[in-house]
Amino acid sequence: MSFEKLGLIKPLLGAIGELGYKEPTAIQKRAIPLVLAKSDIFATAQTGTGKTAAFALPILQKLKNSQGGEDRAIRAVILSPTRELAIQIFEDILGFSKHMSIDCVVLVGGKDIQMQQRALKKGIDIVIATPGRFLELVEKGVNISEIEFFVIDEADRMLDMGFAKEIRKIHPLLPKRHQTLLFAATYSEKVRKLSKLVLTKPAFIETSKKNSTVDTINQVAYMVDTARKAELLAYLIGSRNFKQVLVFTRTKVSADALFLELQKDGLKCGIIHGDKTQAYRLKTLTQFKEGIIKVLIATDIASRGLDIENLPYVINYELPAVAEDYVHRVGRTGRAGRDGEAISLLDIYEKYDIREIERVIGMKIPQEIIAGFEPDLTIRRKDEVEFKAKSEYKKPEEKHFKKPAKKAFVKPTSKKKRKTTKRD
Ligand code: AMP
Repeated sequence: MSFEKLGLIKPLLGAIGELGYKEPTAIQKRAIPLVLAKSDIFATAQTGTGKTAAFALPILQKLKNSQGGEDRAIRAVILSPTRELAIQIFEDILGFSKHMSIDCVVLVGGKDIQMQQRALKKGIDIVIATPGRFLELVEKGVNISEIEFFVIDEADRMLDMGFAKEIRKIHPLLPKRHQTLLFAATYSEKVRKLSKLVLTKPAFIETSKKNSTVDTINQVAYMVDTARKAELLAYLIGSRNFKQVLVFTRTKVSADALFLELQKDGLKCGIIHGDKTQAYRLKTLTQFKEGIIKVLIATDIASRGLDIENLPYVINYELPAVAEDYVHRVGRTGRAGRDGEAISLLDIYEKYDIREIERVIGMKIPQEIIAGFEPDLTIRRKDEVEFKAKSEYKKPEEKHFKKPAKKAFVKPTSKKKRKTTKRD
């Protein structure tokens, strides 16, 4: 099926043609006609499936060209959990609306709010924002009474990050008649509750199995000792000649430590985590995309919203604390139908974490050992040792609280009596 068949207008067809989109992806096939037909949408879709175009193209078509005029009301708002994803959506929309006249702005936390207010005063049609900053702007009087489209992208991530409060505050301020499009990569009870609150008779779109990882991703786990993970990582990058690899750590501290370690090995690497400034993160990401940096180390903050064309490898240096985050991490590769490889470096302490991940994704991840990096399988997790110790421990009642066997009754001598006897 072609994009023409989906009923898109010429300026949009021209723009996506220039971007090299030939065929709509599954989510685009389903979502575009539904949004054009004014339906609310609840879509579970992995990142990398083309979901940005799935909501942005029909919204642009419906908004048509800007009505112009300073201080006009905003017509569409797209909420994103992270600044990086917001900027990415903004850039995608700029590309899609190349042959249209639409004013679009990105409003994220950490930037001068007064400048953002001034930008809005000039007249904006589409706002892409993080929830906290958008709510702040609304509380400062930004007019959202004429919103036609309300998009909640990566709703699951947003809720995990604690943005439910902001969405609950923004939602009642929206006009009664508007379309809401909700996208989530993973489905959870929290997401279901939010959907009940914000959606009216939504069309459900499920382009992939719940919480499943994209089929084109080859997944493997290499068992290794904790102390040798950095060495194995450097070995894999070197021996397999990885040109561009995204490496995830669980914490900022281990990201920093790994960064130093890989630099010692002479690898050109960059780092993105919550303690790095926005400007630094963007610069690092650009250098990574341009190939100046070969290895990008990131914590889960970066696992969503990073869209890097043709990213072939994702390495989980440490498994994520939340199993669902595995789906988001590996979703950085194998995007838009391309092949990708997700490698996890698995130490003994992560034995149970991988089982939880396998339960969430509904498949087994093959575990292998690389020659020269054989793990010491005699190491036991501390809790396993404790568990074993407990199971060897005989129940106290068996040992100590056995009913005493009936003995011939011997009348005890009272202390008083004994004392008397002693004194005697
Ligand atoms: P998204 O899931 O929106 O982050 O998109 C993932 C990547 O796929 C982006 O680089 C898009 O530019 C690209 N993409 C989206 N739709 C298509 C399409 N129909 N054909 C080719 N590439 C696409």
